[in-house]
Amino acid sequence: MSFLTPPFSDEHEQLRQSIRGFIERELTPHAQQWEKERWFPDVLFPKMAAQGLLGLKYPTELGGQGGDYLHESVLCEELARIGSGGTAAGLGAHINIATPPIWKFGTDEQKQRYLVPSIAGELIGALGITEPGAGSDVAAITTRAERVDGGWLVNGEKTYITNGVRAQFIVTAVKTTADGGHHGISFLIVDRGQGVTSSKLDKLGWHASDTATIAYDDVFVPEENLLGELNEGFKLIMANFQWERLAMALGTVGAMQLAYERTAEYARERTTFGKPLSKHQAIRHKLADLATSAYTARCVTYDALRRFVGGEEPLEQVTMAKLLTQRASFELMDECLQIHGGMGYMGEHWAQRATRDARLGPIGGGSDEIMREILGRLLGL
Ligand SMILES: Cc1cc2nc3c(=O)[nH]c(=O)nc-3n(C[C@H](O)[C@H](O)[C@H](O)COP(=O)(O)OP(=O)(O)OC[C@H]3O[C@@H](n4cnc5c(N)ncnc54)[C@H](O)[C@@H]3O)c2cc1C
Repeated sequence: MSFLTPPFSDEHEQLRQSIRGFIERELTPHAQQWEKERWFPDVLFPKMAAQGLLGLKYPTELGGQGGDYLHESVLCEELARIGSGGTAAGLGAHINIATPPIWKFGTDEQKQRYLVPSIAGELIGALGITEPGAGSDVAAITTRAERVDGGWLVNGEKTYITNGVRAQFIVTAVKTTADGGHHGISFLIVDRGQGVTSSKLDKLGWHASDTATIAYDDVFVPEENLLGELNEGFKLIMANFQWERLAMALGTVGAMQLAYERTAEYARERTTFGKPLSKHQAIRHKLADLATSAYTARCVTYDALRRFVGGEEPLEQVTMAKLLTQRASFELMDECLQIHGGMGYMGEHWAQRATRDARLGPIGGGSDEIMREILGRLLGL
């Protein structure tokens, strides 16, 4: 089945082949080791940068490739081929959530200081919004930034932050007024340094990624590190959510297709009761369902992407794509594991890793329940 359907052109397909070649040559062979070590090496950032892959959508003046969201979409899908959700997540957090706010809301000076070295793979970024007491309810954050001479003093704690140990700068959401609700949230670019301490967290999947709690203890942040307008940080959060969710859906679409292909291949080869698994109707039907699920996920996601790059604000379609793909992926991975039998459950097998990795989707980047709440509002329910 060809997926050379809009919104992608031949040019994007050529980019896809080149990215896939790089990933399969340079990253995939190490995925197992990084998962075991629960860490992928920082050198991946300059390696990706050397291929132009940390700045596909950024302008050439900043060291980017001068492409757009469609080029970035190809990368999002192909990152699934690493075979390590954690590695894809660590690279993806830098590309899709930490650097875009600087591009969209940063001053020229901030772009030179943070975005240019981030695109070059010389700096690693993280986005710090979630706190122990505030995840889905972003407005409930309590990390405070108090005005002091020349800047702010930050105190508080963030948690579940991707790249939270390795990041050299954290785009951090803080409260800058005592007002409740969405008002009075601002963003500061916080350099790792005095008063910033991180501790890595253990988790079900995404083993190669570094997910951490970050404590800010009287951290001085200079005036010039305010990102965007004071007290208007909620706008920044909302601006990036659409791309973050679309990027998650795209990565999932790539992972689902790959898992289906591998499982179908296995089912053609593995024999039980004198014939290949795929010739047993129960398994054949399961595979037909998996192919349908992977294709449906792709259609919904591409529709949202087409609208997004076309300049619409497709809140409804992006929300549906995020909601549909993340749960569907977990279910698909679980079925792929099942078709592999005991082998699929073994520690080194891709299917058990993919199943664990996929479980994050319905939680991160806005949970399934929050997606349904947004849709409920949009649908006037
Ligand atoms: C591996 C990993 C990486 C992450 N990376 C980052 C990162 O880089 N940066 C960052 O800022 N955050 C990150 N997060 C945090 C993630 O975005 C939050 O975990 C997520 O938003 C959910 O918040 P919570 O965990 O506090 O759950 P809660 O908000 O406490 O929700 C708990 C449960 O209740 C449900 N729920 C909450 N409110 C409602 C409601 N109104 N109606 C119905 N159900 C509701 C939720 O859907 C969920 O199922 C990461 C999380 C994980 C696990």
